[in-house]
Amino acid sequence: MKTVLITGSSRGIGAAIAQRLNNEYKIVINYNNSKDEAMKLLENLRKTNPYVIAVKADVSKEDDVNLLFDLAEKNFSHVDILINNAGISHFSQIQDIEFETWKKVINTNLNSVFLSSKRAIPNMIKNKYGVIINMSSIWGDFGASMEALYSTSKGAINTFTKALSKELAPSGIRVNAVAPGIVDTDMMRNDFSYQELEELKKEVSVNRFAKPEEIADLINYLISDQASYITGDIIHINGGFF
Ligand code: NAP
Repeated sequence: MKTVLITGSSRGIGAAIAQRLNNEYKIVINYNNSKDEAMKLLENLRKTNPYVIAVKADVSKEDDVNLLFDLAEKNFSHVDILINNAGISHFSQIQDIEFETWKKVINTNLNSVFLSSKRAIPNMIKNKYGVIINMSSIWGDFGASMEALYSTSKGAINTFTKALSKELAPSGIRVNAVAPGIVDTDMMRNDFSYQELEELKKEVSVNRFAKPEEIADLINYLISDQASYITGDIIHINGGFF
């Protein structure tokens, strides 16, 4: 059984991924603030899979990332598959963004991807096997008004993904990014009013937002050997939004 570590998996898309992969993989759940949600998820997954742990770590901090991997390796020897999912959004005009806020979003969305990948890769190279999935966004390619900061963090993830895939392909490691459109999670519910969300929905061809489970299904495929020829790609999943 391979081991999957999913950053930011206490809620939303990350939790849906953990649920989708349960029983087929050993799973490392990671949370930062949402301990109750993480414990509930852990309890639920453990009903059928003894190989699940939950670790508190702020993945924007190097010491926390090292602790997260130390605990994963102590329990499951090594991490085969890394899903860099943790992320936060920020919605405001650029001139209103404090530099501290800019750094917080970049640290959480982008620097966490570097820190976790850096920590995971040596074991993957040793085992000549590994899969890394980075959670991007539609805005990483297209950019969104009032979301220059968030879009920048995701655009950088796309470039990181493409470059790293070339560096790691000779070692048997695949690196891809998934770029969802709008997914029905707390992130969207906290950023927009009900009315704004209804308006936004009209711009999506299928006239609805994605369910987190639909993103999890794509990731389940991408990490499997069925996707063995896919690397260096940014896979869009947006219901025809773009
Ligand atoms: P969400 O419901 O707000 O959940 C965010 C998750 O990230 C939570 O589990 C949270 O953990 C974790 N997290 C945040 N900061 C963290 C940190 N410093 N250290 C560890 N964990 C951290 O968001 P979501 O919609 O599921 O988003 C998941 C990913 O998909 C993000 O990267 C997001 O940018 C991306 N995405 C979302 C959408 C969308 O429409 N929802 C679209 C495209 C891409 P705690 O609560 O425990 O702190």
